[in-house]
Amino acid sequence: MAPHPRKRFGQHWLRSEKVLQRIVAAADLSAGDRVLEIGPGQGVLTRSLLEAAEALLAIEIDTDLCRALAQKLGNRPNFLLLQGDFLELNWQAILNDFPAFQNPRKVVANIPYYITGPILERLLGTIGAPNPQPFERIVLLIQKEVADRLCAKPGSRAFGALSVRVQYLAECEWVCAVPPHAFFPPPKVESAVVCLRPRPFPAVVDNPRQFETLVKLGFATKRKMLRNNLKSVIDRDRLSHLLEKLEVNPQARAEDLSVEQWVMLSNSLTTPCAPTP
Ligand code: SAH
Repeated sequence: MAPHPRKRFGQHWLRSEKVLQRIVAAADLSAGDRVLEIGPGQGVLTRSLLEAAEALLAIEIDTDLCRALAQKLGNRPNFLLLQGDFLELNWQAILNDFPAFQNPRKVVANIPYYITGPILERLLGTIGAPNPQPFERIVLLIQKEVADRLCAKPGSRAFGALSVRVQYLAECEWVCAVPPHAFFPPPKVESAVVCLRPRPFPAVVDNPRQFETLVKLGFATKRKMLRNNLKSVIDRDRLSHLLEKLEVNPQARAEDLSVEQWVMLSNSLTTPCAPTP
């Protein structure tokens, strides 16, 4: 019998064929693709991915589910299932023994919502240390509220520090909204599918730590003007001057700046002022 869904592991089984097809289509798989799936659960998505990918590595924390999955799909030669916590497991090292699964370039997953932030960080890296081997494409089914932030445009309500941090690292595209009844058991929140395409680096930010501080402070009190939120780090006159140079309204709030403008603001702080003659 199928194991009972476990709340503490964020288990909600996808049961909508339509959503499944949208996820697989967004992954744009071709025969040579190696794919990573986080939290395969009972294997609905896993099964579809196995049909389309060259190799699929899946990492599942729940030992009972792993046992059931191994019975169901263990005979597929292009399937490798690892039991463990995705946030802790050094799967790259394990793959040394499984060369056919090394270096997956795509991630496709219906992830447990309670660790969305840490999963994003593991996949993308951080502003200070972007993943040196960025994935080609990351398709995730996540909580809608987070998806809204990842895909938000500057100037909109949902645009926040998370939007800047993630959009700096990846292009974020909305795929579709997913209602609670697309799962069993239905989660309490709405969901959505997003497709992230990590940007190639070297990074353009001169001083990543300063960039992170600026974004954090800038968004600290959302309704306040940027020049008030940043007054502890940039002198008001200097900030007005910089904003003018970036063609940003001096009364702008944090959410009015695009990612490029945040980068330019941060970089212009690292450029030393020209000495006065
Ligand atoms: N992909 C499946 C299940 C989604 S539910 C489906 O679409 O139906 C989330 C899955 O992630 C569950 O199977 C849960 O056991 C697993 N999971 C939760 N925490 C995890 C972790 N830290 N590492 C790996 N898998 C995890």
